[in-house]
Order: sequence, then structure tokens, then C-alpha cells
Amino acid sequence: MTKIGLEIHCQLTKLESKLFCSCKADYRGFEPNTNICPVCVGLPGSLPRLNKKAIEKATVIAMALNCKTPQKIAFFRKNYFYPDLPKNFQITQLNIYGPTSIGQEGKISVEGKEIQIRRIQLEEDPGRLIYEGSSERTQITLVDYNRAGTPLVEIVTDPDFENPKQVRLFLNILSDLLENLGVSDPSLEGAMRADANVSIKGGAKVEIKNINSFYDLEKALHFELTRQQSLAERKIEIIQETRHWDDKRKITVSARSKEEEEDYRYFLEGDIPWVVLELDIISRLKKGMPESISSKRERYIKNFDITSQVADVLSSDKFYSDLFEQAHDQKNAKEIANLITTDLMGFVDTKEKRKESKLTAKHLADLANSIIENKITRNSSKNVLQTIVKSGKSVSQLISELDLGHVSDEAELSKIIDEVLKDESKAVEEAKQKPETINYLVGKVMKKTKGKADATLTLNLLKKKIS
Ligand SMILES: [Zn+2]
Repeated sequence: MTKIGLEIHCQLTKLESKLFCSCKADYRGFEPNTNICPVCVGLPGSLPRLNKKAIEKATVIAMALNCKTPQKIAFFRKNYFYPDLPKNFQITQLNIYGPTSIGQEGKISVEGKEIQIRRIQLEEDPGRLIYEGSSERTQITLVDYNRAGTPLVEIVTDPDFENPKQVRLFLNILSDLLENLGVSDPSLEGAMRADANVSIKGGAKVEIKNINSFYDLEKALHFELTRQQSLAERKIEIIQETRHWDDKRKITVSARSKEEEEDYRYFLEGDIPWVVLELDIISRLKKGMPESISSKRERYIKNFDITSQVADVLSSDKFYSDLFEQAHDQKNAKEIANLITTDLMGFVDTKEKRKESKLTAKHLADLANSIIENKITRNSSKNVLQTIVKSGKSVSQLISELDLGHVSDEAELSKIIDEVLKDESKAVEEAKQKPETINYLVGKVMKKTKGKADATLTLNLLKKKIS
């Protein structure tokens, strides 16, 4: 049986400052080694000061993942030498004197299967090593400490996953959840990374490290499972080892074992006192938590009669569910939800496009109301939406500019239909024999009116005229 466990590293990208100093938590866009101070590069005599907000955000993540939060939390030094870690130790958490890391024993459900969260810990991100060419063969390695000290939450699961697909679904749920909590932007490069452990029936556990994106994680898992299965088929023993993911060659490679000997000599970080999480802090954080994705989803279905499929898509996307919340009232909620999920998400589909979009909540409400009040057809609304996104013009202005006024006047429509019937005598005969072919004529009327004809009225009039 396949068993996969994960260690997910998630940066708290929404924080202002690093975990132990006042340098920017958002290190992106800086020249190398300019977002640093004596604390984050570990100069002798510098002292860490714990970022209270990081404790709060990490606690909120723990609660959202149904973890127990301990009353007292402690930090430890994990000692190892590596150039990306200037102090020669990483400040992290460990459950050595009882549960003192920020969350324990949580769970999350993936398509009915419960995945146990073993532990959540808060730690500092190391700096970054930049290789010229591949890390295997390079002559030159550069180091940038801008990232060193960025607050990082590590989420450790039990080996509960049975296949890479479950892993992907879990990660989708997790990144939506983190985004919804407002603690992290998972789309930023390097904001979410993962290590995995993989084993198949009868084989030892293999750890895969260095996976820099969720997309690569799935590839790495597929590669590793195929490698292990092929060894098993040839009766070759699968040894316990650590393998690195080579994202250029898209394979896992065995890491030299000497380098991986884990003897970290953990000990309590004496420069940071134990932190007591008072009950009133916990209850304040609980109260301040945003509505969960699942409760949002249920509310949409119950209150607005939105289909479960649309509610799924809308509730799990923070950007669009926020827009929906601002735009809707009881009457237009369903229409707005449909506009967002069937049209808008299709063409405003990247982070950049979302940023550039000129569409506001008012635009959405106006457009939905115009559809409901029959001022414009659902068909033409897509065109209007696309134009609003680019120009920011008002809905009423666009309806007149694009000549999209709805044709629902019976006399006017009747005249247009007569013209179509005259041109399409063959199709008319066919529709008399086979009533279902009438849709062809509806299509012709739509074409002639540039999609402005009222669809129900058109169909009724056509039926009347043909019979
Ligand atoms: Zn610093």
C-alpha cells in the first residue's frame, strides 16, 4: 500500500516584519542582502525579539486545521551548518518537553478521507542559495540573506495519503484555507514548499526534499512511486534514504548520506522566553477568525439558492467571494454568483489580471440587476463584463454604447422573426416535421439581433408562427 506524508512550509507573507527582527517579511524585490540586520544574519551579540503577530497568525492556522493549541509554547535551536543559515542554528519548535509547538493533532478532510495533522510549528526561513547552472555541477554558489528570518509555519501530516491525487486535493484545500485566513498568499514564488515521505508495500520510507512548488510536488511523487515500483518488480530492495528533487531534470536523486546525518542537538532557545497563550488571547483570535470556506459555501446554497457547484468555486476563492459579498443583495445574489463563476473567472484568471481589472462590486450589482430587469440578455452580459474589466465604464453607458438593449418588444421581435422565416424556408419545413430543430431558427434570430432577443419570447413566437 502506498503511504505518503507531507511537511509543508508556508510563509506568513501577510506579516509586516520577520519572525525575530523588524526587517520586512516580504523580502521579494529587494537587491540581494539589503533586507537584513544583525539579528537575521546572526551577528554575535544580536538578540531575537519575537514577533507577536506571527504567534497569533500561526495560532489561527492551527485552529483552522482543528489542532489543539498548547498553553505554553517554546522555541528550540536546531543546530546545523549550512551557508544559508548564518547563525549555524535555526530557531524552530519541538515537542520535547510535552506539546510546546503551536498546534498539535489536527485533522482535515479530503473527499471524505481524514488526513491527520501531526504538528504545526513556527520557525524562521533560512536564506537562499543561488547556483550558477545546476546545483550538482556549479562552480559558483551565491547566498542571499533577504529571506533569512521570514516567519514560516511548518505543517506536518501523518502518512495518510494513498496517492498523489489526494495530495493535490489536500494542497488545494490548504492553500485556499490559508488565503481565506488572510495569513499567506500561496501564489507568491516560494511561499509554499513541501517535503514528502513516500513508501510502498514492503519498502522503506524515502524522503524527498527541495520541492519548491505544489506543481512539482505531484510530479516528484509520481516519479518516486514509479521508481519504487520498478525496483520492487525487479526484487531490488528499496532503501531508506533522502532524495532531492531536481526540478530541472524532473527526477529525484539520492542525497549523499553523510550530508543528511541528522544530529541536530536541539536545545531550548535561551534568548526567547516561553510564551504563555492566555485563554483570552485564544478566544479573541477565535472570534476574529474569518468565516470558514465550508460555512460560506453552505450559507450561499441555503440563503441564495446557488447551486453547490457554483458555491464550491465561489467560496474557495477569497478574491471573488470578497467581491461577491460586497456586490450582492438578496435579489441579485444568484445572478452575481453565476456572472463571477461562469464568465469572470474565465477571463480574469491570473493574479495580474485580477490586479489590473477595473471591475467593482457596483458594476457587478448593476449588471446583475440589468439582467434581472430584462434590460440586457444574459448572452450579451459577457461582452459587457469583458469591456468593464478593461475600461471600468458603467453598465448603463455600455448597454447604450454597445447597442445591447434587450429586444423583448413582441411587435419588434415578430417582425424580425418573419424575416428569418422568409429566408429559412427549408429549415421551417424541417421544424414542422422535427420540432426539436426549431433551435436552429432561434439561433438565426439571435444572430440577427446580435444576441439581444429575449430567448423565451423568441421561442414562443416561433412555435406560434410555425404551427
Ligand atoms: Zn533583520
